Amino acid sequence: MPDRRFKRILLKLSGEVLMGDGDGGLAIDPAVTARVAGEIADVQANGHQLCVVVGGGNIFRGISAAAKGIERATADYMGMLATVMNALAVQNALEAIGVETRVQSAIPMASVCEPFIRRRAERHLQKGRVVIFAAGVGSPYFTTDSGAALRAAEMKCDALFKGTSVDGVYDADPKQVATAKRYETISYDAVLARNLKVMDASAVALCRDNAIPIVVFNIREHGNFAAVLAGDGVSTIVQGEPADARL
Ligand code: UDP
Repeated sequence: MPDRRFKRILLKLSGEVLMGDGDGGLAIDPAVTARVAGEIADVQANGHQLCVVVGGGNIFRGISAAAKGIERATADYMGMLATVMNALAVQNALEAIGVETRVQSAIPMASVCEPFIRRRAERHLQKGRVVIFAAGVGSPYFTTDSGAALRAAEMKCDALFKGTSVDGVYDADPKQVATAKRYETISYDAVLARNLKVMDASAVALCRDNAIPIVVFNIREHGNFAAVLAGDGVSTIVQGEPADARL
């Protein structure tokens, strides 16, 4: 049974979740990507409709390249192309386990994938395909977090799931502070006011203005995506108004 609140989900995957473990790991590790695809397939099999937005930070990050002398807009376009590579890797891994997919890119690339067309994406979802959105919003000076919030709003998703390698939002960096506590729920405004590293401020604001809950969870932990949806996984939900609830 799908969680009735979250029938249609947008899953944001940071590029880093596709990386191999340890030093010298591959930027796109096929075994790791296959594991992530398995998590997506399980959730889809439970009756959820899935949009996926993939980042590119495992390959290329515009702002870092700009700091080393590449002009910022050019560096950002290079970053967007990196997200297309990741999108194809996720598509490949999903199709290898029998999940039908389509990739739509915000930068048209006719021989590689479809361009982003909202109505066509809607049709794919209705037919049970996973739609993978590449190239963020298609403009420099943005990130794929903003792309995820935008597509979640456009596709009328019930929630934005941010799949990372940490299991939620903490009141301090859990790697530095032993007493750091994970929030069970926290408001959009608290995330913005305390500058908590959940997503970019513009992405959080877009979710707030469109009342889209953001669920932060660890997608590298086997079974956690489906478990969070079933109500017994580990995550933090960023949503409107309720008082902070720390564990
Ligand atoms: N990017 C961009 N516009 C967008 C989305 C992405 O310019 O709408 C570029 C930007 O340079 C960014 C890179 O693509 O650094 C990779 O995306 P991101 O950093 O969001 O990837 P993630 O951190 O999620 O892996």
